[in-house]
Amino acid sequence: MSHVSQAQISRRVYTTNSCDETIALGRELAKLLQPPKVLVLRGDLGAGKTTLMKGIAAALGAAEPEEVISPTFTLIHEYTGRAIEPTSQRENLGGTVLLYHLDLYRIEGQRQLDTLGIEDLMTPQSLVLIEWGEKFPSVVARSNGEIAIETLPGDERRITLSLRS
Ligand code: ADP
Ligand code: MG
Repeated sequence: MSHVSQAQISRRVYTTNSCDETIALGRELAKLLQPPKVLVLRGDLGAGKTTLMKGIAAALGAAEPEEVISPTFTLIHEYTGRAIEPTSQRENLGGTVLLYHLDLYRIEGQRQLDTLGIEDLMTPQSLVLIEWGEKFPSVVARSNGEIAIETLPGDERRITLSLRS
């Protein structure tokens, strides 16, 4: 008997042609990201991961786009926002969303990762987005999916949201 479960993955693919379009897409994607969720935010340097976060944070009323900056050195940024389409359960929690933006670019090895205590961020109200999370199998294993950004010629980006159910 096989113990490999076939998780269903839903995929949505978008393209953007500017920084502003990626921020606008982030606002749309935020509606699809009901907490709790942990997502790897995957893409090369300069792909637009932090730019997409600006839109997600804005949609949740968590931060203005210009306030969302890269956590490359700070490692974790925490914002508090409000659920966009509150369910009854989240109403009980006050509709709060804890938005966490992590960047693991500078993190080397599982031991260093452990010092961040990512598990402690995973509350029922949490939306955790992790740049360079794909470096760590333990992060991928705990994630609900990923947002992948591919750089195409010019300013075009292909952005794929994959969610495991
Ligand atoms: P990352 O976090 O993936 O390293 P950033 O979001 O910090 O990337 O930077 C993306 C850069 O690419 C910005 O300078 C932005 O202006 C530029 N850019 C050009 N076209 C796009 C696009 N379609 N979407 C997002 N950013 C774009
Ligand atoms: Mg970044």
